Amino acid sequence: MSAERDSAESVRDLARRFATDEVAPHAAQWDRDESMPRAIVTRLGELGFLTGPLPVEHGGSGYDNETFSAVYEELGRACSSVRGFLAVHTGLVSQCLGDHGTDAQRGRWLPRLGTGEWIGCYGLTEEDAGSDVASLTTTATREGDLWRLNGAKTWITNGGIADLALVFARTGPGERQQGLTAFVVELPTDGWRHEPLGVTPLGHRAANHARLRFDGVVIPDGQRVGEIGAGFGIAMSALDHGRLGVAAGAVGIARACLDAAVTHARQRRQFGRRIGDFQMVQADLADISAETEAAAALVTRAARAADTGSPDTTRLTSSAKLFATEVAQRAADKAVLLLGNRGYGDGFPVERYYRDIQGLRIYEGTNHIQRLIIARALLGRDEGA
Ligand SMILES: Cc1cc2nc3c(=O)[nH]c(=O)nc-3n(C[C@H](O)[C@H](O)[C@H](O)COP(=O)(O)OP(=O)(O)OC[C@H]3O[C@@H](n4cnc5c(N)ncnc54)[C@H](O)[C@@H]3O)c2cc1C
Repeated sequence: MSAERDSAESVRDLARRFATDEVAPHAAQWDRDESMPRAIVTRLGELGFLTGPLPVEHGGSGYDNETFSAVYEELGRACSSVRGFLAVHTGLVSQCLGDHGTDAQRGRWLPRLGTGEWIGCYGLTEEDAGSDVASLTTTATREGDLWRLNGAKTWITNGGIADLALVFARTGPGERQQGLTAFVVELPTDGWRHEPLGVTPLGHRAANHARLRFDGVVIPDGQRVGEIGAGFGIAMSALDHGRLGVAAGAVGIARACLDAAVTHARQRRQFGRRIGDFQMVQADLADISAETEAAAALVTRAARAADTGSPDTTRLTSSAKLFATEVAQRAADKAVLLLGNRGYGDGFPVERYYRDIQGLRIYEGTNHIQRLIIARALLGRDEGA
């Protein structure tokens, strides 16, 4: 086994120990509390996970995508709120700033994000711009060396606890996706506020989700990320990173469902036998197992495509997100049924997996949208249209 492979295995082991010892025992309580301690973010920083996939020259841990997927998977197995935090903070924000920021921007923001001193959020979605991101109406208007930001974002993970928001706004001159630009807003700042969503989420209850309002927030041009009008491409490239984390996290949920179902199938006796001795139960366990391995293999394939800079990365990443989240959805559904009334209450974690997996099918582009992305990659543009 090569030294690189050893190192990938040791990162997975580290993530598994952290997830098993420091996350999983508290996940149910954090879910009930609807928050997780800030100390968990600091620990993610100490372990090098907040900078995991960033190159060493940017202060990162330098993991390749395949290695970092294992971190997402292990965290997803323990707690989707923690895994979701990481996919946003590191996948959508830090990696995006690493890819598109200037040296000065990286030097200012990445070290703070890397230790967890600052928390990042990614502000794309608006009330009337969900799947149709190009229709967003938050505006940034240029005033010399400054920009003035007006608008509102909704369902922003970490939005109520963030120190830095990566925000996408309409600047023109082009229409729709041609007219979007990315900015960093350092928080708090005048004219900014966050508000609770006013709903109880189905899952990811330990995570923070908020609405962000920007009323004339002033942003120096030095906090513009990338070129004017390049925001849509920047937002999409960030989602390629984040979606890999979502897909790997879904594999973690599926594995956790399989573990819970197998344990129960061994222990629970009805009709004088282990329920695992009934063939219908065996079929469910076998299906979860086979589908989970297939999802894990697809995540690895997408991660390797990203690692080699393959032009097929987006199609494979969307395929992994689509397939792995649907596999985990079926696994959670079966696990709840196999645990009977225990699966229906919060004394066992499968009901949390069942709730959490719904979020993974919606955020970072719903699974309908993943199908559109895959089909677009297959078909190309209609030149006659
Ligand atoms: C837990 C959670 C965390 C989130 N975190 C963030 C975050 O950190 N940052 C952020 O910016 N956003 C975040 N979001 C928002 C999320 O990205 C959006 O909810 C998502 O992109 C879908 O938008 P929408 O909910 O407005 O649904 P809509 O776009 O209104 O879609 C409604 C339905 O119509 C379908 N649909 C829409 N268009 C098409 C089409 N062309 N073809 C087929 N079907 C279509 C959708 O798939 C969906 O089923 C989060 C959401 C959740 C639930």
